[in-house]
Amino acid sequence: MSELPSERTLRRLASFRAVRAGVLSLYLSFGPAVHGKRRNIRAAVDAALDRLSESPLTERQRTGLERERTNVHRIFGRRFKPSGRSMVLFACEPRGLWELFQLQVPSLSIARFAERPAVSQLASILDEQERYGVLILDKERARILSVYLGEVEDEVTRKSGYSGRTAAGGWSQARYERRREGQLHTHIMKAIDALASEQQRRGFDRILIGGPDEALAALLGALPRGLRARVSGTFSCELSASGQTVLRRTRKLMEAAERNGEDVVVGHVLNAAKSGGLATIGWEETLPALLEGRVHKLVLVDRLRHRGRSCPRGHVAAGRARVCSRCQEHVGANHDLTEAAVGAALDTQASVEMVRGSAAQRLRTEGGIGAILRY
Ligand SMILES: [Zn+2]
Repeated sequence: MSELPSERTLRRLASFRAVRAGVLSLYLSFGPAVHGKRRNIRAAVDAALDRLSESPLTERQRTGLERERTNVHRIFGRRFKPSGRSMVLFACEPRGLWELFQLQVPSLSIARFAERPAVSQLASILDEQERYGVLILDKERARILSVYLGEVEDEVTRKSGYSGRTAAGGWSQARYERRREGQLHTHIMKAIDALASEQQRRGFDRILIGGPDEALAALLGALPRGLRARVSGTFSCELSASGQTVLRRTRKLMEAAERNGEDVVVGHVLNAAKSGGLATIGWEETLPALLEGRVHKLVLVDRLRHRGRSCPRGHVAAGRARVCSRCQEHVGANHDLTEAAVGAALDTQASVEMVRGSAAQRLRTEGGIGAILRY
């Protein structure tokens, strides 16, 4: 199992060439894990490879694909434990390439066998994912976790000596309180320093803060504007909580933040398209724009499947017409227009954003697809 994919992984894969053989690129998405139930990953892989071998391939490619299938079977036998929401594999045995990632984020299911790895979707996943800084405070320490692709990728703990304990005897209550407040202030400022330096090192897109109420209130009040603007939620948590517990406590906050972002994108697409701006909604407008390379960002309802027929220019054909009513080109067979749309987006360096929740509901009334245009 490879590590989480990074920008370096992406660059390495992007420069990989299979030369005479081919490289298998496989993205598989799974529904939410059903506890105690084993996913039949091998069946899912086989179905994807079967569909791939029905596509136009040369004899040499077909032989290469079957060789990779044998290796894939060996790996996805009994011992393989799927642990993510999606799986990404790049394999080319003749050139010693085997990169397998399990991601805690969804991807679109794609299978390709070609000279170069299909890295665009991986690029789009890495690009779309936000990196979270999770700061957890207690009375003495600050712990900062960096969460990326649904996993804790790094963490640091800073001790700053606000004891909160009873001071040595002889002090008046007021003096003790002042000292304690002073210590709390020092502790908070040190925690903020630590957060600021991690922010600089990691570039968090959003920040979540956990800890006891008193410390949370003091921290939020003292955060400089740049950091405060990134705070998208607070939660209660023990400093000593495991990484898994922190992930569980923050998941809802992260999902809510993502949904908010998707609402903004879909709102922008709908408003712009309806006021004649640089956006399209619906298949009729979006598919031709994709094929013309005019799309900057394709916005799709997650797991949307749309079968239909279109001409090579992406005009969706109604009924059984064999000739496109708009451009007179030949209309192709019924197939998955979602794959066609995503393929066209990746081929033209457009990003792909999959939306869920309320954003998906709004977009679904417009066919489930829309785009922000370059021109
Ligand atoms: Zn047409």
